[in-house]
Amino acid sequence: MEINGYTRTCGLIGNPVEHTKSPAIHCFLASHTGQNLVYVPFHVEHGCLEDAVKGGFALNLLGMNVTVPYKSDVIPYLDQVDELAARIGAVNTLVRTNMGFKGYNTDMPGLYRAMCSDGVSLEGEKVLILGAGGVARAVAMLLATKNVKEIILLNRTPERAQNIADEINGLEGREIARAMKLEDYAKLPDERFLAIQATNIGMFPKVNEVVVEDPAFYQKIHTGYDLIFNPMDTRFMQLVRENGGRAFGGLKMLLYQGIIAYELWTGITIDDKLANATYEEIQRVV
Ligand code: NAP
Repeated sequence: MEINGYTRTCGLIGNPVEHTKSPAIHCFLASHTGQNLVYVPFHVEHGCLEDAVKGGFALNLLGMNVTVPYKSDVIPYLDQVDELAARIGAVNTLVRTNMGFKGYNTDMPGLYRAMCSDGVSLEGEKVLILGAGGVARAVAMLLATKNVKEIILLNRTPERAQNIADEINGLEGREIARAMKLEDYAKLPDERFLAIQATNIGMFPKVNEVVVEDPAFYQKIHTGYDLIFNPMDTRFMQLVRENGGRAFGGLKMLLYQGIIAYELWTGITIDDKLANATYEEIQRVV
């Protein structure tokens, strides 16, 4: 692509950003939708977030993604925050408006679009969430809006899972979520669940680690979704498959959070054919 005086810039702010796959997504989309647009990672030092957001606006950036550790800290520096992002309390996409940036969360709609694309339905499901960090909390919020039957949060530190369950039940006005200690997994009812792995156990380089080893646990999982995308095939996914379930990784969630951000920045809708081609492209660079 030729960079000239009309080139628009989008970017990623975070710390670190050096591992990011997002430039591959956005540069591929730009070249296949005929947009004169580049996407650049910006390493933002601690204490410099406000300057980075204001500076990005002053430099006429079209939009930015936000990653760890700034997804919540960025909110005070935005002109507006979309309702879903406000509810989740985390913003990963900034869209330029006249007065400043508007913040969105495309991670959760991204996970939902990934699940739809993988043929995973949430309606009426009993769902296990492994973990109770920022992403697990957002996943629980997503599930509560998608008509699932029950959400069980399993976490090493049960208080964190209980806090999320209380918050979800308060928001929904019904007892849809409950918390369990991770080590109590054997007390789960003898049913088959959709399980979403939202801890960081099993991430590169510790690829042989998994949050639960016991095959009996995996016999209760009909579909396992690991949000980790590096490696693409995690030990969790292998154990789900070995025990008769279907398993999916987090790369499609990464893809669709990027696609939704790109759609917000450009107003262009990305069809399935281009989404699939972009998915092939990022598998090549992971
Ligand atoms: P986080 O806030 O740091 O939470 C980490 C979770 O992992 C906590 O529940 C923690 O339990 C648990 N954990 C950590 N070490 C553990 C251990 N040794 N044994 C048992 N549990 C352990 O992280 P996050 O921001 O929610 O991110 C979680 C995952 O989501 C990451 O792996 C990340 O790769 C993935 N992610 C994927 C995408 C995507 O696009 N696919 C996007 C964002 C994030 P305690 O509460 O007990 O500490």
